[in-house]
Amino acid sequence: MATLIDGKKVRDHNLEIMKGEVAELNAQGVYPCLCVIIVGSDPASRVYVNNKKKACENIGIVSREYAMPEETTTEELLSLIDELNADKSVSGILCQMPVPKHIDSKAVLERIDPAKDVDCFHPYNVGKLVQGDNVMLPCTPAGMVEMLDYMGVEISGKHCVIIGRSDIVGKPMALLMLQRNATVTICHSRTANLSEVCSQADILVAAVGRPNFVTADMVKDGAIILDVGINRMEDGKLCGDVNFAECEPKASMITPVPGGVGPMTITMLMRNTITAEKVAKNIK
Ligand code: NDP
Repeated sequence: MATLIDGKKVRDHNLEIMKGEVAELNAQGVYPCLCVIIVGSDPASRVYVNNKKKACENIGIVSREYAMPEETTTEELLSLIDELNADKSVSGILCQMPVPKHIDSKAVLERIDPAKDVDCFHPYNVGKLVQGDNVMLPCTPAGMVEMLDYMGVEISGKHCVIIGRSDIVGKPMALLMLQRNATVTICHSRTANLSEVCSQADILVAAVGRPNFVTADMVKDGAIILDVGINRMEDGKLCGDVNFAECEPKASMITPVPGGVGPMTITMLMRNTITAEKVAKNIK
């Protein structure tokens, strides 16, 4: 039986620490503030934005929402970002993705001041991450590292195999694991002998976006499995990228879906918002 890595427990542990930090900052007259921009009325985006707001309220971060209509132009969005970039009371800015198709999302992400880029999507922050010198954390990958640390896993020297090479999960996870001295392999849709490569992993990260993609033959005995996948099934239930029933008996630790990696992403967003404010105010 594998040990379950409980994302909600790790989240609550982190949020409790951050609550204390925010209270200390408030006592010095410093108020971390996160601005979330949402364009249009995508229901999934609405849920994500509401969850971010709730997390802010929970730990005392000031949250401001900017809801813009579907027909907003790129220029209008960029001009709002310019305003928020210039506003000293704003610690972090994020624009909920995806934005409507007519908006130039790359221009939007690149307009956010890197010092306020709490999603860590700006090329400057990605470059810093590559150099191992980043201040902002890529949220979902950093959440996974936090989970491993919480569970007392020694990352250094481990072989970490990541399935998926997206800019928001696979690639930044590889960089964080390299920073922690893991040996890293990144797999994708063109990887040959995927099952064989995965079965060499001490730490296997699944970020594919396909339900039950990872099967028992891809898992080494005693491996640690981190399942990033969030797939909505026909019955409305959420399913990960890992076939949990098959893989769990072979693993030493595994994250469930839901309640695994998912809760950690917003937690790391809160961490970045506090960090951004501290850096802006030169507070150690
Ligand atoms: P993307 O669709 O951007 O990337 C998927 C990756 O999987 C690609 O690199 C793709 O390879 C690879 N892939 C697809 N099919 C195969 C295959 N047959 N064999 C090997 N590799 C394959 O997804 P994301 O990284 O954005 O997200 C992945 C999952 O994680 C989704 O379910 C998403 O909902 C979830 N997610 C969860 C988050 C959380 O907070 N928990 C946050 C972000 C995402 P190629 O590059 O060759 O196409």
